[in-house]
Amino acid sequence: MALLEVNQLSVHFGDDTTPFKAVDRISYQVEQGEVLGIVGESGSGKSVSSLAIMGLIGHPGRVSAEALSFDNADLLAMKEKEKRKLVGAEVSMIFQDPMTSLNPCYTVGYQIMEALKVHQGGSHKARYARTLELLKLVGIPDPKSRMEVYPHQLSGGMSQRVMIAMAIACKPKLLIADEPTTALDVTIQAQIMDLLLELQQKENMALILITHDLALVAEAAHRIIVMYAGQVVEEGSAVEIFKAPKHPYTQALLRSLPEFSEGKSRLESLPGVVPGKYDRPQGCLLNPRCPYATEHCRQVEPELRQLGARQVKCHTPLNAEGVPSHV
Ligand code: SF4
Ligand code: MG
Repeated sequence: MALLEVNQLSVHFGDDTTPFKAVDRISYQVEQGEVLGIVGESGSGKSVSSLAIMGLIGHPGRVSAEALSFDNADLLAMKEKEKRKLVGAEVSMIFQDPMTSLNPCYTVGYQIMEALKVHQGGSHKARYARTLELLKLVGIPDPKSRMEVYPHQLSGGMSQRVMIAMAIACKPKLLIADEPTTALDVTIQAQIMDLLLELQQKENMALILITHDLALVAEAAHRIIVMYAGQVVEEGSAVEIFKAPKHPYTQALLRSLPEFSEGKSRLESLPGVVPGKYDRPQGCLLNPRCPYATEHCRQVEPELRQLGARQVKCHTPLNAEGVPSHV
């Protein structure tokens, strides 16, 4: 069985008369040591689906799934207390903005030591030693003196390193990184990505990399899920998807990358934004933005279908030439 099993996960917000599906029946698995990229524009449900897995969706959100399991434990049936034990220890998460996740009132060392205390216990001395080791591991220079600083005294890149140290403190089996480099400078972005992948390999940890930036997962991820408006529209191996995307939305994301777009501006091939609660179209959710949309697309929503080793949610998946297969 996979390390993480997500089967038909949905997250609804709003009341029963006007529910909004932020995540709409998504399914995927993550194996031990695997890197899964979850890609999509903002509003596509990438973050919400991960928060749901972590049990972090509060009122008025409602989570449902046919199955949701981690390391053979049923997350849906799990008691709050058990879940709290699991989250932060065996599954942990880092977010885009480290400053909102670090507590400004405590020193860096204290916060990591507290995380260790909650999940692992042990003596103060052991926790201190482990914290030093972690800061070294994430490449923080002069870790001994950095133990004593407050978050605001660190740069964005250094804060993200502290967040990563905290997230891996208890050697999680799965780390979920939600836009881990979006708030950082380009050069720092690359360093943080390298660090994450190095740690992932060293610890044989599974990594879910959530991003709007397809380029970020191009080399890092084994498999990719592309999400649009709360749904999975394409799933497959990273190599295959980059070679020949089968979904028009994936193709548009790829074409917006600098190395593919030959100087064109971002998402030029796909005007508009992800539909929200009040503007969900009938038929295929992409149809108002899709260059290949037909009358059939405007009426009937396509199913997510298996195509070889790929899953694609489109009536006319793209062929190797990048055009709809009915043409
Ligand atoms: Fe475009 Fe139609 Fe495919 Fe939707 S089903 S992605 S509108 S071609
Ligand atoms: Mg997000």
